[in-house]
Amino acid sequence: MRPEILFPLFAPAASLKGVGPKIAPLVERAAGPLVRDVLFMRPQSLIERTRITVAAAQEGAVQTFRVRIDAHLPPRRPGLPYSIRAADETGFIFLNWFKGYGQHLANSHPEGSWRVVSGKTERFGPQLSIAHPDYLLPEERAADIPRHEPVYPTTAGLPSRTLRRLAQTALERTAALPEWQDPAWLARHGWPGWREAIAALHAPISPADLDESSPARRRLAYDELLAHHLAMAQRKAERRASPAPPVPHAAATDRIAERLPFRLTGAQLRTLSEIGGDLGSGERMSRLVQGDVGSGKTVVAMLAMADVAAAGRQSALMAPTEILARQHFETLAEPLESAGIKAVLLTGRDKGPGRRAIFERLASGEAQVAVGTHALFQEDVRFDALGLAVIDEQHRFGVSERRRLQEKGEAVHLMALSATPIPRTLELTLYGDLDVSRLDEKPPGRKPVITTAAPNTRLAEIVGRLRQAVASGAQAFWICPLVSESELLDVTAAEDRAVTLRQALGAERVGLIHGRLSSAEKDSVMAAFAAGEIGVLVATTVVEVGVNVPNATIMVVEHAERFGLAQLHQLRGRVGRGAAQSACLLLYDPPLSPTGQARLNVLRETEDGFLIAERDLELRGGGDALGLRQSGLPDYRFVDPVAHRDLMAVAADDARLILHRDPGLESPRGQAVRVLQALFDWKPDGSWSAAG
Ligand code: ADP
Ligand code: MG
Repeated sequence: MRPEILFPLFAPAASLKGVGPKIAPLVERAAGPLVRDVLFMRPQSLIERTRITVAAAQEGAVQTFRVRIDAHLPPRRPGLPYSIRAADETGFIFLNWFKGYGQHLANSHPEGSWRVVSGKTERFGPQLSIAHPDYLLPEERAADIPRHEPVYPTTAGLPSRTLRRLAQTALERTAALPEWQDPAWLARHGWPGWREAIAALHAPISPADLDESSPARRRLAYDELLAHHLAMAQRKAERRASPAPPVPHAAATDRIAERLPFRLTGAQLRTLSEIGGDLGSGERMSRLVQGDVGSGKTVVAMLAMADVAAAGRQSALMAPTEILARQHFETLAEPLESAGIKAVLLTGRDKGPGRRAIFERLASGEAQVAVGTHALFQEDVRFDALGLAVIDEQHRFGVSERRRLQEKGEAVHLMALSATPIPRTLELTLYGDLDVSRLDEKPPGRKPVITTAAPNTRLAEIVGRLRQAVASGAQAFWICPLVSESELLDVTAAEDRAVTLRQALGAERVGLIHGRLSSAEKDSVMAAFAAGEIGVLVATTVVEVGVNVPNATIMVVEHAERFGLAQLHQLRGRVGRGAAQSACLLLYDPPLSPTGQARLNVLRETEDGFLIAERDLELRGGGDALGLRQSGLPDYRFVDPVAHRDLMAVAADDARLILHRDPGLESPRGQAVRVLQALFDWKPDGSWSAAG
């Protein structure tokens, strides 16, 4: 229930004075549907309207003058502006309008009257002018011209000035709210109260006020983070309270592990014991396993599934692509079978009687493990007793897809696998409602991949070296990026590259794989590559995730500057999986920007995915909010994931502490916290919330 004190803010934006039916849709597009959304707009810059004399005017600057209207000069021919000559004691200035304002201007600004005018000053020869002044007002209204004017991001048809006025109106409707922060903490940081902070947001007087590190902006960011973390912590607590039949650890699972051709790493063992703790607890597990590429997540999932099978329940492992599902199945089926656990593979390709047979085995419980793609959560798939859902490459699935799989059983445990390491600070914010295990150790004996960067002007030389390498039995991935909006164009780029490489290396040595091929075609190319029948696999980023071809030792990435660091790291992880020395070559289109250079350097310096993620975040700076959002961060209003990342951990801790002391939010502070939550109105689908 929404607290009464917030009613004015949750009124429709159209209820603000000056928002008629015509501009209401524009306001909604610029800010959102509510007064609250107008209040939460953020000025992006600041205009200083310096008050000055005409003689002292500076070309190109926005300035304010007190002038007398001298003469109205209607256009002498079409195309010329309507002009007013105005003057102060020090000189003339022309005010120009290029559209039919004539009569209106003549009436409202008679000759001889004094006016205050503000706008951007231009100079043509000796003539000073302002085209379309921002303000032209009688002297007594001079106060309407702000000395410091915040500038809002505009949408078509809504000038910043209108938004500013609306923000001011919204601010007038805004009451001070009961303080939800610890007063001592506020004092220590010199942060204002909420009402003051939001007022300061709309009244910057220096560039420092627009900085994300200004006390007002930090306070608002912190409030937003606290609201979000509270929501996640509450969700986590609710889930904890939902029971699930305990799954004990099984001796059969140990025997599977013992038969593996390798020993589990310390990180794998630790993660398995964390999972075991969850499965055995009697509460529903919601755990994210974050592991670098090649850290061995599949085996961990397999051993968890073996425990579930021993407890008489079924597991489903869902992968984003068919290639990957097939590969998982090949990895799992035999070791599980050795313990009498039957696995089936289900993809979109299974049709007719074969498909019905798979359904039958799952519905009867004869098969305990299902590996597959999106096909797994389709309606006609039924399980006898689904107990565990494993989502591989979880970010590739939507919230509802993950949930639909989980809903195929009662109290289904959830395990999500992510091969995209993220910095710890973001981890809290992205996955605050999950328990997280980190596989931060790679299986021993892997040789580091030698990584180099080169301009694409050296293509011919590189192809020459590739020919030699392939002739002596090496295998290579050659990645062409997704660049354009049109997948077709990208496919064409990859096809063209395949043509050049076929000319240089021989047609039979080069395969091509991209998203437009049918699954059967993709599989057959992949199979040929895995079997060593093709030397070079030209690919768009469809091979990005998870594919395992240990004999491949060369990774060439074209236009590496267009990829995110995490993606490049993923791609590089496709090689260096066997005993031989591997190499990764990052081709770029020169010249590289300094940031581009720094980014490629990061990859050359380290193979630690978690470190790369940290550096990536630093290198993004504040500017790349979009890229960060693509990584799954919620659409914050005030939080800048880079500038405010120090606040993330603090907000997460505070949220936990507040709920720990006052789970029902009944104390006075708890009541204030409820107002905060209502204010931000956290919708659970802002971020990961499949666990729900
Ligand atoms: P990812 O975490 O990227 O999904 P995989 O599960 O595909 O990694 O494992 C990558 C490779 O490492 C596989 O060939 C797998 O058999 C192997 N592997 C997994 N765990 C170990 C280990 N403890 N020691 C050696 N090799 C391992
Ligand atoms: Mg994997």
